[in-house]
Amino acid sequence: MASFDILVTGGTLPDGTVKDIGITGDRIAAMGDLTGAEAGTVIDATGDLVSPPFVDPHFHMDATLSYGTPRINGSGTLLEGIALWGELKQIATVEEMVERALAYCDWAVSMGLLAVRSHVDTCDDALKGVEALLHVKEVVKPYLDLQLVAFPQDGFYRDPTARANTLRALDMGVDVVGGIPHFERTMSDGAASVRELCEIAAERGLLVDLHCDETDDPLSRHIETLTYETQRLGLQGRVAGSHLTSMHSMDNYYVSKLLPLMAEAQVAAIPNPLINITLQGRHDTYPKRRGLTRVKEMRSYGISVGWGQDCVRDPWYSLGTADMLDVAFMGLHVAQMTAPDEMQRCFTMVTEENAKILHLDDYGLAPGKLASLVVLDAGSAIEALRLRPDRLCVISKGQVVSRQARNDAALTLPGRPSSVRRRHKIAEG
Ligand SMILES: [Zn+2]
Repeated sequence: MASFDILVTGGTLPDGTVKDIGITGDRIAAMGDLTGAEAGTVIDATGDLVSPPFVDPHFHMDATLSYGTPRINGSGTLLEGIALWGELKQIATVEEMVERALAYCDWAVSMGLLAVRSHVDTCDDALKGVEALLHVKEVVKPYLDLQLVAFPQDGFYRDPTARANTLRALDMGVDVVGGIPHFERTMSDGAASVRELCEIAAERGLLVDLHCDETDDPLSRHIETLTYETQRLGLQGRVAGSHLTSMHSMDNYYVSKLLPLMAEAQVAAIPNPLINITLQGRHDTYPKRRGLTRVKEMRSYGISVGWGQDCVRDPWYSLGTADMLDVAFMGLHVAQMTAPDEMQRCFTMVTEENAKILHLDDYGLAPGKLASLVVLDAGSAIEALRLRPDRLCVISKGQVVSRQARNDAALTLPGRPSSVRRRHKIAEG
């Protein structure tokens, strides 16, 4: 008789199939009908959704949980946020950044978010954020994969020491090359920064993820340069453009030329709907642009697109709970991805699609993969988007790392049920 360390029984996978999952050590050992198997721990997931863990491809862990320090962002704009972060990073200490980041990772684990790509600001001669997050990366390694991006927040060329400090950060072990071409002094400086950053990545064998065209200016076209450099340097499949909000406002003819080039170069896109629905369009009267990039159109060209969270309780965004379902929920609405296959896609855009963008090769629910999963109080992936429900159990690398009791509401209504869970059994297509 088969024997496992952990057996998760009866769960519904995001594709709708029902399978038991047997875990031995840190790996998934078997999946299917495992009736009769023995296990040290049995988790009954009958009727619940069992998903691979959530993945956030765009975050700022050096700034998280700092909201209100030293003041709040009064205008709500990207530029005031950058200025405010500039003040905060002067007074921040390594210890305080570590403490905030670890507190955030606790939130993430409780939400089944077990892999995060975080940008870390390299525009600081002391590189406090880099030191803090490299330390946090080691601390959380047993249960959360933290991938770090060297991010010259104040401009790779615009800030006098950013270039040298970004290279130092990469020497110290930061994983991915970042940048912010639309914040350089001129369009040509922005394009030059894209070129040099991609060359650095090619030389060092690293991935690239640039904050790219996070503006409502339709002429901000650094994604074109990023796509060209990806092709030129043979970086296909290793490059992502985050935000790409200017694409919302671009000329349709230009976009019809751009998207096939992105697809050819296998450049991925990381829109961040929570933050960009609040930051963009701030200079508009009415009609007011949404400022989200063209998600459905990119998908139609086969471009890899994953939802990112970007911010939780920091100079740019006052809300957030580390819930990638909140991110997908907002993205679904703003991008109008309301057809059943589009909603299903929104769920994979915070799970499998993001794992691909981060090159997480051991990810997924299949025998031999790392045993990381989350049990949600929902009957399907689409219902999970609707409910954004409790995470009943989170397993990371073969260890149960979080449990939460089911939290049905108790009703006191004459002639009505005594409790309610808000599940709904109508077929979703
Ligand atoms: Zn960002």
